Amino acid sequence: MTVRVTLKEDSKHIRREYKTHARAIGALGRWFNNNKGIAILYQPGQEPVVYKGKHELPAQKVKSRTNFYRTKAWRELRLSVLLTSDGRCKICGSSSEKGAMLHIDHIKPRSLYPELALEKSNLQVLCEDCNIAKSNKDS
Ligand SMILES: [Zn+2]
Repeated sequence: MTVRVTLKEDSKHIRREYKTHARAIGALGRWFNNNKGIAILYQPGQEPVVYKGKHELPAQKVKSRTNFYRTKAWRELRLSVLLTSDGRCKICGSSSEKGAMLHIDHIKPRSLYPELALEKSNLQVLCEDCNIAKSNKDS
């Protein structure tokens, strides 16, 4: 969907388009920081909404979820699984000497079993190809 926005300041009219409502609201917030004007937001199938200031914008959810794969706990665990493995993909047996990119896979997917995310017994070494094939099945 496309969210259209018209920004009006004095006689200037700026039209912009955004892919999502959240992006449009974020952009309007930044625009209100630097401009005094009104913003009109058009969403498909809805009445246009007029905002006269940043305080009128709907509250944005803050993205506070940290990236799991960048956490120290995960990196340490991942390394220890790699070091104690035989360095081969559990499915096809490919190894990094043969040019395979090895990944550490959650046997039970993290999306369904978040409590097993840092459980060593739930981890296995897969090559990139097998991991992608498996994650397509998991989700
Ligand atoms: Zn493999």
